[in-house]
This record gives sequence, structure tokens and C-alpha cells, in this order.
Amino acid sequence: MKRTTTLLLLCTLLAFNGSAQQVIQRDPMISAMLAEVSPDSLRSHIDKLVSFGTRHTMSTVSDPKRGIGAARKWVLSRFNEFAKQSGGRMTATIDTWMLQPDGRRVDQQQEIGNVMATLKGTDPNDDRIFMVSGHIDSRVSNVSNRESDAPGANDDGSGTAAVIELARVMSKYSFPATIIFVTVSGEEQGLLGANHLAERAVNEKWNLEALLNNDIMGSNHSPDTRLIDNTKIRIFSEGLSGFETDKRAAGVRQYGAENDGKARTLARYVKEVGERYVDNLEVRLIYRNDRYLRSGDHTPFVNRDFAAVRITEMNENFNNQHQDLRTEKGVEYGDYAKNMDFEYLRKNTCLNLASLANLAKAPAMPQNVTLEARNLTNTTSLFWQTPKAGKVKGYYVLMRETHMPFWQKKFFTDKNGLTLPYSKDNYFFAVQAVGEEGHESLPVLPRPSMR
Ligand SMILES: [Zn+2]
Repeated sequence: MKRTTTLLLLCTLLAFNGSAQQVIQRDPMISAMLAEVSPDSLRSHIDKLVSFGTRHTMSTVSDPKRGIGAARKWVLSRFNEFAKQSGGRMTATIDTWMLQPDGRRVDQQQEIGNVMATLKGTDPNDDRIFMVSGHIDSRVSNVSNRESDAPGANDDGSGTAAVIELARVMSKYSFPATIIFVTVSGEEQGLLGANHLAERAVNEKWNLEALLNNDIMGSNHSPDTRLIDNTKIRIFSEGLSGFETDKRAAGVRQYGAENDGKARTLARYVKEVGERYVDNLEVRLIYRNDRYLRSGDHTPFVNRDFAAVRITEMNENFNNQHQDLRTEKGVEYGDYAKNMDFEYLRKNTCLNLASLANLAKAPAMPQNVTLEARNLTNTTSLFWQTPKAGKVKGYYVLMRETHMPFWQKKFFTDKNGLTLPYSKDNYFFAVQAVGEEGHESLPVLPRPSMR
């Protein structure tokens, strides 16, 4: 009887991947949240952000209608409104500090602030934090121009609107782990807000398991290649960890771990969970930290050993980024909302939501995951300990061939170890904890155990 009920509750779909058949199970609560994400709502957030004229980091903070100060106060007011529907679990604040002139992109003393909403987890024993970000600041051609209109509808109104929409929808639901929704500032002046936040996470010893950074993800076309497509989204991830790479180099070289850093592992997870929940969206993993000549707010986190990735549209339109508003030879330049695709932005926002919700509902990662490497064998034995937080139904051991980009097989066990008839020399393995309702933690790569 219980089994029948469970089957009825789960929306079960069959997906065919070549000849392989895979059962896709969706959590009805996550599906219900996804249904609430609205293109019209996203559009209204962006129209409001654009209405502040410019959101340049060095623009006025005292004008009630124009500039970065008014924009961040408005985001705070939205967060505070959503907090009312959270039963006291959501709190919002602007984390402000003073920038000192640096002779480069900061030419005067200026108050800067990250606007944050924290949806506290319901499990007092679970200190995990998952974070989603976009940057609220905008710019035109000259990075120091604080006066001209800089609508920043897509860069990064798209990421900021996604963060606001996620807070709006998710604040009504509860999760065992904590979710932080943040719009950072100073991205265009050198990732200043993200650096400040990453430093805070280290100093305050946050158990930050993942950051999804959204920057430029609401436009579907590039004029130079004439591509129009709203079915693909890119996730940029570094393969190695940017943290203490030199100290880890020997093990990375010996075992071929250059493609399994924390960011890359997170990117694979977001692809799997995102495509499970969001129809007509293909997640393309880009195996590099960021694009040529560009940087993003995930990087200060990657550099401090956190799992962090960048989510960016497939075909960027550079005529609409960092441009003075003008028409030249019949081409209009400028980052306007009219150039965006709000159905595409909806899907990309849903990709974030599905990933965050699945992570925050899952148990914590298994602890002390080891691969037995004492003896020469053609089998593989893995061991681990129960996660610190969350109820565990069992574990997936993930497996792929060493040249394959994605996990190919998963084995379920309710024990704290598994021996498989596959050689550890020929495959990569990882272990994820599985909760009672099937939500998976991030995978943990084993370390070799010689004892
Ligand atoms: Zn940007």
C-alpha cells in the first residue's frame, strides 16, 4: 500500500537515452515551486531595476529614485516583503562597508553593499548553506562612468531578477538547510562584493557547500553568429580547485583528478538535477572557469576552496553589454530589457531553483569517503561514514570511465561501503548520500586509503 502511494505521489517520467532507459522521478514539492516561477514576474523585477537609471557601484547612494543606493534599498524591500510569508525563517539585510580609493576603478570613498536574504534551515543540527547570486551593479562603455544611464537589464539584471524571484517563491517553503539569496555589488569594479562575501564566509566559518552565480543569462541571441536559441545554458566550472593547487598537485597527477574539482562536481550535479526538472533546457558544461577577457563573482569563492560555478547564456550579445546607449551605422547598442527572452530567463531561474531545492532537501555529504588502495586488485572497495546532518535512506556510488565527462552508472546501497567488480584503475568513483525522499547530496570523490 505504502509503495503504491509513493508511486502515485511521484510524477514519474520515462526518458530514453539511446537504448538505455532511465526513470526520472520528480519531487512534487519542487515541481510546485518551479510552476510558480513566472516570466512576467521576472520581467517586472528587471523593469524596476532599469528604472533606477544607473546602478553603477560609484553612483549616488542618497538619491531616493536614481542610482545604486535606491536600487539596493528596493531589493531589500522586496526581500522583506517575502520574509513575511516565511514564518519568521527569512531575514534580509544590506551588508555595507566603505570602499577606499584604489587609483583604478574606485576613484573616491564610497559606501558599497550586498543585499542578502537568508532563509534559515529548519534542522538545528544542519549548518549547511547554499547560496545563489547575481550582481546588482551595471556599467556602460567606460567602467568609471557613474552618471550615464546603464540599464543593465541582462548584465546583470537577469541574475539579480532570478535571485529575487527565487527568494519570492522559495520563502514560502521550508528546507532543512539554509539558503542565502544575494545580489552583490562592485562586480564591474573588480568582484568587490563577491570578494567581501567570500572573505566573510571564510572568517565566519560558514559551511557553504555550493554557490550558483548567475551573470548574463536572459538573452537568447548573438548577432555575430546569427544564432537564436533558448534551449541551452552554459555552466562554467574550474576542473582543479584554485585553492592550494600546488600542494595537491602530486595526487592530482597520480590519479588523474584534474577534471574533478569541487566546481566541476557541482556543475555535473546542476546539469543532472536541472535537466531532470526543467523541460527543453540542455545544460552545457564548459570546462573552464570563465570566458576570455571576463571574470565573475564565483571566482573569489573558487579561490577559497568553495564549490562555485558561473551560469551564463549560450549566445552572448556583446552589442548589449557594457555599452553606451547609442545607435551607430543602424545598430542599436545598450543593455535593454527589450533584447531579452523572459521564457529563457524563466527556465534558467528554474535550473537554479531545482538545484538549490534538491541540495537543501538532501542529507549532507557522506564523510570520510575512502577508496581502498592497499592491494593490487581488479575490484573497487569504497567506504564512508554517515553524514553529519539529514536522514539517509542510502547512498549512490557514481561511476564513469576516466575519459567520460559525466557519471555513467550509479549503484545504490544502504550500507556504509560497497565493493564493485570494476577496477579502480579504469574508472572514477564518487559517493552521494540519498535522503528518504530521494534527494541526493553533492558527490564526494574518495581519497585513497593505504591502511
Ligand atoms: Zn556581469
